[in-house]
Amino acid sequence: MPELMSVEEVVQRVLGQIVRLDAENVVAVDALGRVLAEDVVADADIPPFANSSMDGYALRAADTTGASAEHPVRLNVVADIPAGHVSERAIGAGEAARIMTGAPLPPGADAVVQVELTDAEWTRDDTADLAGSVGIVSAADAGDNVRDAGEDLRQGQAVLRAGTVLRPQDLGVLVSLGRTQVSVVRQPRVAIIATGDELVEAGEPLGPGQIRNSNSAVIAGLVSQNGGIPIRLPIAKDNLDAVRERFAEALAAQPDLIVSTAGVSVGAHDLVRAVIEELGELALWRVNLRPGKPLAYGRVGSVPFFGLPGNPVSTMITFDLFVRPAILKQGGRPLAAPVTTAVVTEDMTFDGRETYMRVTLRQDGDRLVAETTGTQSSGALLSMVLADGLLIVPAGTTHVAAGTELGVRLLRA
Ligand code: AMP
Ligand code: MG
Repeated sequence: MPELMSVEEVVQRVLGQIVRLDAENVVAVDALGRVLAEDVVADADIPPFANSSMDGYALRAADTTGASAEHPVRLNVVADIPAGHVSERAIGAGEAARIMTGAPLPPGADAVVQVELTDAEWTRDDTADLAGSVGIVSAADAGDNVRDAGEDLRQGQAVLRAGTVLRPQDLGVLVSLGRTQVSVVRQPRVAIIATGDELVEAGEPLGPGQIRNSNSAVIAGLVSQNGGIPIRLPIAKDNLDAVRERFAEALAAQPDLIVSTAGVSVGAHDLVRAVIEELGELALWRVNLRPGKPLAYGRVGSVPFFGLPGNPVSTMITFDLFVRPAILKQGGRPLAAPVTTAVVTEDMTFDGRETYMRVTLRQDGDRLVAETTGTQSSGALLSMVLADGLLIVPAGTTHVAAGTELGVRLLRA
């Protein structure tokens, strides 16, 4: 019997053999959630010109000294500058230009006074003649309500770092800089193969002794949640030719990773192992983990391969622990899993393996309480449906007393 490997040791071995994928160019506005593969540096000032941050009057601040409601300063209005229009008319002493938010500051002006601090009464009619003069009722300082060129982004400034998972505001920055394309890490393509004579797809009639292939749907969802592209292949029946054919199909789809479920234990009909040994190489790792049978890891051709146990809960948990970090690393994403701590409410006994218990979580005062979802059978997918998280019982633990605080891996929505 080979030694039992710890969960952490298996994760490290896997990660040691996985490399980040190469980059590809995609349309910038479609890159939400993708991982940036380049540093983005501003190639120009944003905004490109000094402009008004208010609707009001551009003027020389020095002209407004001492202005008040009782003693307004009167200025001649010599121009009207809507957003998107440039006025070349220089503002001289005793002059002002009506200006809208975002419009370029005219030459000569050094401040903007908002309309509310003037005696102007604007109508919604843009074509209305400009009043000949305006009374300013509050003194302004140079720079008031003026956004300098480059106030948002300075030319040469590093704005987004490679490795950033692009958010809506990041796309906004790319567009502001005029970018239409952006370099991002390629999404891992993950081929998914379910094996077993007992399996049929939803929509097919269920014959005697048959169950539906739920694993492929679950794995496809997990792949997507972690930034990968799932490629679902048809079910492989439990015979050498069928399994061989599926793995050939998987390779033809040019995946970055292949995941199969079932067919890797010591059962008489477990054929995945035999086929992988023909096509590449395979190690069976006995992991000190519950739930989870032996984990097969290897490669098919040059593509990394995971053979997960068939039981639906074991499939999910071994995916979460071992496949997820591989997909995240290929995709250039941070590996940290969302974790918290919670207190258990009852005494429990364990067999000493690192155990992932399906639990619900509820807030109780200032602490989080974890309670079992009921059956912990590795075939009971409902236990995952009910669970908010996986309570982590460390290896070597045989007894946990009520009130003990343990780590919990949170399951994502
Ligand atoms: P195995 O790993 O082949 O021994 O399968 C373990 C258990 O998981 C058996 O009860 C199988 O019927 C079940 N199982 C295997 N593959 C799937 C699948 N794709 N979807 C749902 N259950 C499965
Ligand atoms: Mg089987």
